[in-house]
Amino acid sequence: MIRIVKSLAPEVLRDGQTKTAADSADYQAHKTDYDSGKRKFSFDHDIYAHVDVKSVLLLDQHDKCCFCESKISHIAFGDVEHFRPKSAFRQSQRDRLGRPGYYWLAYEWSNLFLACELCNRRWKKNLFPLEDPSVRILSPKDDLARERPLFLHPTDDNPEEHLEFDKEVIRPRNASRRGSVTLNALRLNRPALQDFRRDRYVLLKNLFVVANSDLPEREDALRNLDERVLDSAEYAAMTRCARRRAFE
Ligand SMILES: [Zn+2]
Repeated sequence: MIRIVKSLAPEVLRDGQTKTAADSADYQAHKTDYDSGKRKFSFDHDIYAHVDVKSVLLLDQHDKCCFCESKISHIAFGDVEHFRPKSAFRQSQRDRLGRPGYYWLAYEWSNLFLACELCNRRWKKNLFPLEDPSVRILSPKDDLARERPLFLHPTDDNPEEHLEFDKEVIRPRNASRRGSVTLNALRLNRPALQDFRRDRYVLLKNLFVVANSDLPEREDALRNLDERVLDSAEYAAMTRCARRRAFE
């Protein structure tokens, strides 16, 4: 994970404000039914996952999943994911679904990111653990800043302060609990992903050796390595970490 710098909110999300006002009013009128799951919100996918939203996210995130940093669009469409789940939440996989979810953030720009299907649909889903689950914000009238999420937020937090790498393996940095929870819940060391990163690591290590040699290719290798640490590069956090440690 690396920190994502977002552009301004796409215009189309303004349409979500009317929808959110209607959802909030309906929730107040049928609170018990919503809380029991009998009544459900019908969120407008055409707004929060509008092509304008997706294309800005693709640019801002350099076509990478906000969690695992894998490039997305050559293998999938990518999901517009809600950092705070819009329909319902779980403190842990074992817990029952809690309701309502963060319905008023369904079209909120700061809550939207692009994620790969595995991170989003297989692992994150409705998970949204908090440091203190008794302080969970369940209404748009309450102050969201009181909540202390355990998942690292891709723009509000700097994930590289919480996660580091031992070669291709991610581990919490300075015993960060939030790093640990994010890493484990989203399975950021899942075997297929680790295999992918290992191949990349070996390649980069070879580049590093050449870049520090007297070979005529050293300039090219150095230039290539410089590109691999940019935000736009796949697994940039791993490469930055490895380079800082001289690929030891
Ligand atoms: Zn992912």
